[in-house]
Amino acid sequence: MLDYIVVGLGLSGIAVSRNLEKRSKHFVVFEDNSQKSSLVAGGLFNPVILKRFTLAWNANEHMKIAIPFYKELEAKLQAKIVYPIEIYRKFFSAEEQNNWFEAADKPLLSEYLDTDLVKNINPCIPSEYSFGRVRQTGIIDTDVLISEYRNYLKNEDKIKFERFDYNDLQVNADSVSYKGISARKIIFCEGFGMQHNPFFNYLPLRGNKGEYLTIYSEELQLEEAVKSSVFIIPLGNNLYKVGATYNNQDKDPQPSKEAREELEKKLAKLISCKFEVVDQSAGIRPASKDRKPMLGRHPKHKNLYCCNGFGSRGVLISPTVSGQLIEFAENDVQLPPEIDLQRFNRKHFSA
Ligand SMILES: Cc1cc2nc3c(=O)[nH]c(=O)nc-3n(C[C@H](O)[C@H](O)[C@H](O)COP(=O)(O)OP(=O)(O)OC[C@H]3O[C@@H](n4cnc5c(N)ncnc54)[C@H](O)[C@@H]3O)c2cc1C
Repeated sequence: MLDYIVVGLGLSGIAVSRNLEKRSKHFVVFEDNSQKSSLVAGGLFNPVILKRFTLAWNANEHMKIAIPFYKELEAKLQAKIVYPIEIYRKFFSAEEQNNWFEAADKPLLSEYLDTDLVKNINPCIPSEYSFGRVRQTGIIDTDVLISEYRNYLKNEDKIKFERFDYNDLQVNADSVSYKGISARKIIFCEGFGMQHNPFFNYLPLRGNKGEYLTIYSEELQLEEAVKSSVFIIPLGNNLYKVGATYNNQDKDPQPSKEAREELEKKLAKLISCKFEVVDQSAGIRPASKDRKPMLGRHPKHKNLYCCNGFGSRGVLISPTVSGQLIEFAENDVQLPPEIDLQRFNRKHFSA
């Protein structure tokens, strides 16, 4: 009998699987390529909320765990995954500059916010009020991470590229069975695909569509990430990612004309040089109602677990909280209440 079945191999499933591997657990993953959130993500790790200049939820703790986690994977998979890159926040007013200085005075933020403002970063990106630099930021190449980790699991015979069909799951007293595979436990990491999961679709998963453009510009010559009304993220070879959009109404996984127009318009305001759109991608962020991850054990079925709700910052958050989930599943170490899916029990499972 296996220890675990894992359903879904986006950022959440990868973090769960690595945490299982580190504890020498035997598992198999099911992955059907139905969701693209992790694949199309900008992959940025950034501890600061750049709208308000506040620290993202538990960001210090997550930074300490996430960066070594991806570096270790980089070494294991022998693939380049982690790219340190500075983020420059364009200011729109003197008030924003003041807010930045105030934030940089706070103990938890001081190590990330540079108080030496930068007047010019690039001739194509003028800014009347300069730029603020965020330190210790970077990009995880999620495309490479996902394809390399899938290849690795394939070579280990630990992944099945097929849809997990919930109708065929048999939940027993101390195990689960699925198409001839028995395991002690199952962990669902399907992102927005969780809406089809009859065991966990009671959880308030909202879904927020995000789209990016890939542009080509010879003139831009930008090596840093820039945050203004959109992010510009350099990809190399004169290619840049531009985005992302946020849309909690549209759940169509295909790229949309509206998003392209919105992003092109914002970019044309931000940069003064020519660019050409060469690609567009879309994914549905698995956002929760209270914007916190939703992890834990099913209230009625003790062998069923869920690791979801990474509506944003999945890169930074998933390594830490998936480790906490496995500690809970294996050793009953309680999950922090703010991420434990029990917070939704009262509404759905009152006695
Ligand atoms: C445009 C955009 C930009 C973003 N930028 C960033 C960023 O810069 N930094 C950051 O940290 N986060 C970013 N995010 C958010 C980030 O992508 C998410 O936090 C993260 O990808 C969620 O990962 P996940 O594994 O939970 O879900 P997903 O990536 O959706 O993965 C779920 C996996 O489960 C599989 N699956 C689902 N159902 C089944 C089934 N029945 N059987 C088998 N397999 C199944 C799917 O195919 C998929 O591979 C962005 C998101 C978007 C859309």
